[in-house]
Amino acid sequence: MSTPIPYVTLDDPHYGEVVQVSPLIQRVIAKNPSKFTYLGTGTYIVGTGERVAVIDPGPPIQSHRTALLAALEGRTVAAILVTHCHSDHSPLAAWLKEETGAPTVAFGPHKVNLDWVDDDTDPHEPDPEDEAAAAAVAEEGDEKVEESLDLDFTADVAVADGALAAELPGCTLRAIHTPGHTSNHLCFWLEEEQALFSGDHIMGWSTTVITPPDGDMRSYFESLHKVAALPAAVIWPTHGAPVLEARPFIDAFVAHRLEREAGVLAAVRDGVALVPDIVRRLYVGVPEKLYRAAGRSVLSHLIKLAQDGLVQHEGQRPGVKVRWLPA
Ligand SMILES: [Zn+2]
Repeated sequence: MSTPIPYVTLDDPHYGEVVQVSPLIQRVIAKNPSKFTYLGTGTYIVGTGERVAVIDPGPPIQSHRTALLAALEGRTVAAILVTHCHSDHSPLAAWLKEETGAPTVAFGPHKVNLDWVDDDTDPHEPDPEDEAAAAAVAEEGDEKVEESLDLDFTADVAVADGALAAELPGCTLRAIHTPGHTSNHLCFWLEEEQALFSGDHIMGWSTTVITPPDGDMRSYFESLHKVAALPAAVIWPTHGAPVLEARPFIDAFVAHRLEREAGVLAAVRDGVALVPDIVRRLYVGVPEKLYRAAGRSVLSHLIKLAQDGLVQHEGQRPGVKVRWLPA
């Protein structure tokens, strides 16, 4: 039994409409629903006056461009903030910059850690299988497969952890570096509402995909603890409804991952040495077509367990095809 995560449902995405969701925040949801974006990408517009910041302009679909232009009419976009360069978050940043002249702000270029290259995927090439696999759901029906990288994205302004990402009349947005889902993932903290824009670090409806080498389970745990320490009154994820009980929600994610990690470690200690066999043991009832995605998740746990000195692998590099043994 895994710890239940108190997901919140979003009743109506109001596609194409700008919705005032708090005194300082508006949201437009793109019509790109899928098993890995939930009802779609939520683009946030922050600010009350004429000057606003936009967080995660979203996917390159015409209806979303039209909706954003309508929502931003008569206003000045001061900054375009991007949580990370996945294909459902950053692609419209360049277009919105063209339209508005606003600078794009993000952690910096996507740096894929290539200390090792997995034998299973090339992190630079989105696997053509992913799209099909993304249509299904992994990990007890709640974990998605991978999103593809938007490697064309480069930010005009690179912000470090804690830096001011945008300052508008009555609105202060700070960057919080939260690696794990991707190495360059940022959350944004709206001081005036104690609100956390969590991107894909924390989602309202699902666990987050951690796929090595860019996805990193150790960093992900650290980043969860980092945002858990914030006095967040509300979390606004890119996908899903706002989370009002931030701390118990984050604690449930941590518990869920720790249970999975314990299962992976127990499997290796029982002599289950290969990732596909660990997947078969842990993902009971999950369709076989999702085993590859589940294998990525198991691998991310194994890499963390190896860093903790609890498991080791044969061969030079970690991967889904090498044998894993207790350390
Ligand atoms: Zn993502």
